[in-house]
Amino acid sequence: MIVSPAFAGKRYAILGLARSGMAVLESLYASGAELLAWDNREELRNSIADKAHIADPLESDLTGYDAIILTPGVPLNSHPIVQKAQIDGVPIIGDIELFAQARSALPAHRVVGITGTNGKSTTTALVQHILTSAGVPAVMGGNIGVPILSQDPLPEGGVYVLELSSYQIDLTSSLDCDVALLLNISPDHLDRYDGFDAYAAAKARLFDMLGSGHSAIFAGADDKTRLALHCLRDLGRVENIVDTSARAIAGQADWPSLQGPHNLQNAIAAVATVEALGITEGQWRPALASFAGLPHRMERIAESRGVLFVNDSKATNPASTGPALGAYPKIHWILGGLPKSASLAECEPYYENVVHAYTIGEAGPMFEKLLTDKLPVESCEMMLTAVQRAAANARPGEVILLSPACASFDQFRDFEARGNCFRSAVNSVIENGLIGTANREASQ
Ligand code: ADP
Repeated sequence: MIVSPAFAGKRYAILGLARSGMAVLESLYASGAELLAWDNREELRNSIADKAHIADPLESDLTGYDAIILTPGVPLNSHPIVQKAQIDGVPIIGDIELFAQARSALPAHRVVGITGTNGKSTTTALVQHILTSAGVPAVMGGNIGVPILSQDPLPEGGVYVLELSSYQIDLTSSLDCDVALLLNISPDHLDRYDGFDAYAAAKARLFDMLGSGHSAIFAGADDKTRLALHCLRDLGRVENIVDTSARAIAGQADWPSLQGPHNLQNAIAAVATVEALGITEGQWRPALASFAGLPHRMERIAESRGVLFVNDSKATNPASTGPALGAYPKIHWILGGLPKSASLAECEPYYENVVHAYTIGEAGPMFEKLLTDKLPVESCEMMLTAVQRAAANARPGEVILLSPACASFDQFRDFEARGNCFRSAVNSVIENGLIGTANREASQ
């Protein structure tokens, strides 16, 4: 666990005791802070009663407190805690800001911060993989894996690789990354921001915290990423600004877990990041080939009768599904779920790779209408039906890809449950020999 003398004797209110909130509580308690904590769930409150005063911060006088610590799940644009904090004159922060404040007591280290709409987890995991493959002690945290304050401090020379969502950046004010990376920006999470500009500005704040000797990397060719790059250049405050949008690196065919144009963008951004930390091509190139990828992101889950099954359940918006369709030339595409937009514009450039589409979930009828003049599409409603029909139609050399372009909550608990459902359906069609049956019937 990361603890710090910086927290000793200070007073904090913690709202939300799920994973990162609990990590905050343990770290602050072990550091000697005085704590008030609350969660709507009684069992969580009871579990920490020996370490904190249990009270709802909304109903407590917080005057004189050093900070209110929120989990990133609390919407800052609508939750009453924001007004309460203003009235009591207390800053609102998150666990990443506490990490930033604890850094001075840690062994000498560096921090990489990675943000963007799509590709954060993949790139974070890849940067950590390249560093550890090169013998540099590195952990990942933030929006991925174990909360950063629960992790043991790295030895001297280590690198903390942080995936940062815009919500986490909103709760952070002093994280001076050694390397800050912005992957791309496309419309997402607009329920929590006052429009697309505000969402983009939230991401760009990562660079406001950057010290002058540190590095800023911009990967995307999209308008908002370009704007953030130009703004930082115009300010003239940061010297090391790297634009990877036009950089090319050969050899992608040798990186099985980094297929598709999006993963090329991620790989190039990761390479620029580790190069800023002094890693050489002789070190990063083999690590791109040995990267295992993350579950539910372009995950190759099975191959049977020459048909490859790929689980990209994490593609919850059209901007992340588009490049997934660019990864293979002959795709049976399973899409649908809870729609985030009424358009599939980002997917359109890749339709020539789609042999057939199968829709599921609430967005099914809408997507069918959007696709019907452009490619063969059928409504399946349920995952198992979609996988069965796709498997029946698929021929050797083709790929069955779940890349839904939608949130999962209409039919599943989360994108992981959706990906696991796809995997079970795939196992069942393989076990029952249902691949290519439509083709075999047709040719009989
Ligand atoms: P995040 O953590 O930002 O959600 P992930 O690495 O988990 O990103 O990937 C989320 C989804 O976006 C996956 O379906 C993945 O295939 C897709 N994706 C990954 N990288 C990119 C990128 N650079 N641009 C667009 N989509 C991407």
